[in-house]
Amino acid sequence: MLKNNYHTHMRFCNHAVGDVRDYCLAAIKANLEELGMTDHAPIPLDFMNEDDYRRTWSYENMKLEQIDSYLAQINDSRLEFKDKLKIYSGFETEYLYGHDDYYHMLRRKVNYLNLGIHFFNDNNGKLYDTYSEVDYNSLEYYVKTIEDALETGLFNTLVHPDLFMYDYHNKDGKREFDDAAINATKRIIEVCIKNDIYVEINANGIKNDYDKDFMEFLYPYIDFWRIAKDYPELKIIVGVDAHDPKMLYGDHLKRIYELIDVVGIKVLDKMVIHH
Ligand SMILES: [Zn+2]
Ligand SMILES: [Zn+2]
Repeated sequence: MLKNNYHTHMRFCNHAVGDVRDYCLAAIKANLEELGMTDHAPIPLDFMNEDDYRRTWSYENMKLEQIDSYLAQINDSRLEFKDKLKIYSGFETEYLYGHDDYYHMLRRKVNYLNLGIHFFNDNNGKLYDTYSEVDYNSLEYYVKTIEDALETGLFNTLVHPDLFMYDYHNKDGKREFDDAAINATKRIIEVCIKNDIYVEINANGIKNDYDKDFMEFLYPYIDFWRIAKDYPELKIIVGVDAHDPKMLYGDHLKRIYELIDVVGIKVLDKMVIHH
């Protein structure tokens, strides 16, 4: 079962509940040894046009002015729980082109960064939503964004790498893990191996299940992980992606370990910071 969790949100992103301390108490209750706080990083207003900013819910993210209080909460909890829990500071960030200085600034403030691609740009700067706008054509840009982001050396873990399958449709408009999806999966895995990046199997995704009996979730997407299992060098960790302290313990986590067993994936308990 879960020993450590490196993917944890809190109320500053406005779609999670609880303060850092609440997650620490829950982690201790769950007998975790290490907890990484990784709330969604602020996205400056000038990173996209107003319409895209609104439809990606970016205005809900933590504000730049809240970074200090977020880090202060983490420091307070480190003192309070110093004999019980190792606490890391982090952010989950997107990767938008042309803003490497900003991501470097974020990286310097915390112990590590998780890369989570909820939206991405094509070559013309058009923005796509990973939940609803990945198709046979735009998939290339999702993969390219991950490749370019991971080559910067800024990120330690790629979270929910298989999120592109959330609403993916093939060129006939059918829901299918087609050749393009297989190729995308391999490219994502290979860039992680090349750059020594962890990939995360995301336990939050199982709330979106559509066929529990066959382990068919929108994500974690089982066929993605069937391919991943054939890469013994790939470093896979489980991430709770907690948006409520209660998500750190309880029976819902069993389901992710069932999936891991069914596919035969080897997961690492502990994440080491390489980047
Ligand atoms: Zn979130
Ligand atoms: Zn997350």
